Amino acid sequence: MSKTQGTEKIVNPLQESALNKKGLCDYVINVASGCLHGCTFCYVPSTPAIRTRQISLRNQGVRDPQMDWGEYLFVREEIPEKLEQILSRKKSWRNTRAGKGVTLLCSGTDPYQNHKTAKVTRKTVEVLLNHNKRVRILTRGLLWVKDIDILQNPNVTVGMSLPNLSDEQSHKIEPQAPPPSERYKALVKGYKAGCRLYIAAAPTPPNMEFEDFKIHLGKLMELEPEVIFWEPINARGTNGKRMLAAGVEFIGSVMNKKTWAEYFLRQWEAIEKAAEHIDCKERLHIWPDRGLKEYVEDVRLLESWWYRPTVEKWEAASPTLMSSDSLNSSPETSSVIGSTLDQQISSEVVKV
Ligand code: SF4
Repeated sequence: MSKTQGTEKIVNPLQESALNKKGLCDYVINVASGCLHGCTFCYVPSTPAIRTRQISLRNQGVRDPQMDWGEYLFVREEIPEKLEQILSRKKSWRNTRAGKGVTLLCSGTDPYQNHKTAKVTRKTVEVLLNHNKRVRILTRGLLWVKDIDILQNPNVTVGMSLPNLSDEQSHKIEPQAPPPSERYKALVKGYKAGCRLYIAAAPTPPNMEFEDFKIHLGKLMELEPEVIFWEPINARGTNGKRMLAAGVEFIGSVMNKKTWAEYFLRQWEAIEKAAEHIDCKERLHIWPDRGLKEYVEDVRLLESWWYRPTVEKWEAASPTLMSSDSLNSSPETSSVIGSTLDQQISSEVVKV
């Protein structure tokens, strides 16, 4: 299938985010609609960011915005210019306890998936840093290493999604993303250059167990990431269908809510045990899904992770965050990507 590509306009690229629930950020900037990496488990197409735009995406030439995820990309080239205008006028800055005033690029696409998005990302990061803002990059792409000159900054942390290091498995479930072995090499370059790093060890496939986590975490710790986020695959919206269509057999066994919860809790226990074993438990940051509520004895186990700040050392950086308009703000006041908080939380709209 040929890819549908183009550009699109955006009124306000800087969106308040509810992803402080996951310890990620207080703002997000998405440099595009769509993502050419087309990971089969990605649930961005089932979130309001895409669901509410089906008609306009069809008008832009996309046949089926959900099932054709990975086949279209509309880059928002004007973001740096618009962002500069916004930041020049902005008098307050959201700075919650878990979001730490950070801006995430990106929650609904990959900032470094190709040269076009990389160009917008670089300029956007420059604008944020000029305004002394904290930046979190999250990518599966390799092009960020070309931007090490600006990313090597105490106000920036760079993270890559690395569920495991199996190129073979990745080829099935993230067919258009660079293989994990290449992602790891990119991280080594960033590490050697002194970039602050973190890892999203997510989403881990059901076949990973204690020994696999031990090996994986051991390899990741060689990069000294400040934090390692973790979650398994969450079958949501059309991602189960897309995984089945891509021949990812194991998804059938975790599409049922009970088997999914068992898989989540089994891996949670295994990765914590593995982290204890190699002495990195304090860096492990769990993203428990609220769908687990009916499967845990004490819901406080889940709640203890929601809105928990990571152990990252942003304080060592030198932000002069503008006055916080919502310091430790209750999440109920937030809105994200034009959606309600409930929609946001239920969609957990971060691609990993
Ligand atoms: S998980 Fe990330 S990289 Fe993969 S398709 Fe979704 S947005 Fe793109």
